[in-house]
Amino acid sequence: MRAMTSSYDWIDAAIATIKKANWYRSPQTPQPSMLMFASNNYLGLAQDQRLIDAAIAATQKYGAGATGSRLVSGHLEIHDQLEQAIAKLKGTESSLVFSSGYLANLGTISALVGARDLILADAYNHSCLKQGAILSGAKVIEYIHRNHENLCQQLKENRSHHRRCLIITDTVFSMDGDICPLKNIVDLAQEFECMVLVDEAHATGVFGDHGGGVVSALGVTYPIIQVGTLSKALGSLGGYVAGSAKFIDYLKNRASTWIYTTGLSPGDTAAALKAVEIVQTEPQLRQNLWANVKLLKTALTETEISILPTTSQILAITVGDTKKNLAISQYLNTQNIFAPAIRPPTVPTPRIRLTLMATHTSTEIQTLVSKLKTAIHQLD
Ligand code: PMP
Repeated sequence: MRAMTSSYDWIDAAIATIKKANWYRSPQTPQPSMLMFASNNYLGLAQDQRLIDAAIAATQKYGAGATGSRLVSGHLEIHDQLEQAIAKLKGTESSLVFSSGYLANLGTISALVGARDLILADAYNHSCLKQGAILSGAKVIEYIHRNHENLCQQLKENRSHHRRCLIITDTVFSMDGDICPLKNIVDLAQEFECMVLVDEAHATGVFGDHGGGVVSALGVTYPIIQVGTLSKALGSLGGYVAGSAKFIDYLKNRASTWIYTTGLSPGDTAAALKAVEIVQTEPQLRQNLWANVKLLKTALTETEISILPTTSQILAITVGDTKKNLAISQYLNTQNIFAPAIRPPTVPTPRIRLTLMATHTSTEIQTLVSKLKTAIHQLD
């Protein structure tokens, strides 16, 4: 038998190139004893006993898996309950849950537009919006990050050459923590007859009086398609799309990442349903989170550690090149603090990305800042 050699040899060279650029990554297991400053578990709900109990009860009632796609054998009544609860949270007529936020974006974008259409996308959008745009086959134009004038210019130059137009953007940008200028985007969408799809992955549960996200916090009434995840503030797993009843009905017939995949597991569904109830009824969780954000920002400013402008629970510390960022992150690791260096190609410039949770204590935040200060000075 011939050895499995030459046709796969290129992989060694590809990995070597990744390593040479300092882009090589592998999963790390944070120890439970570590101070966690990188989790998307913004409200601490992933460990909430009520979610765990709901997941166990649903698993016992329905089993470990949904066993089929929703249109065939995998549709459960708790899917309906979760979709109604999400629609209420989001202020829409209807919603649809997917196996992940990533799949929700791929399926929705590619169902909305095709080869005759145009997508205008913020240059800093999450990977799943970018990949969804490519998959759709539409013409994709990226506008300068959060830049209203540039978006307007692109619309003026390109809109009339296309049938449908879809503007896509994160509301809270995952790597910088800044927020899209939603009202400006909606004004342009109205003027140029565009659909708007926003990804509320980092905003749901966190923004708005009842945790509805940025769309709800700003009280925007334009019909926006809201996509998001069940895996961050909601502490479970899965994704969703919220919009009008007719649009959701259409998706059930056209979104291939929903049609041809197994329904969300009973445990994940029930945990998310409990989380949606909690984020609407327990505003104290958000108040704790925002108090922690304020505390960290003030402490970083006092210590003269620079961060990118942010109005969310995501803070990006900017301290030099990739090597320095990696060294700082490694030092923090030795101090039992988990705060990863995020680097190209994930982001254009390297940074230590911190995320806050409602469950952090002020002592934990102060420890982080003091260790960061030591790391930055030691490594200068
Ligand atoms: N959108 C954004 C902005 C994200 O940050 C992420 C996850 N990192 C996703 C979508 C994907 O969500 P999920 O993890 O549910 O696939």
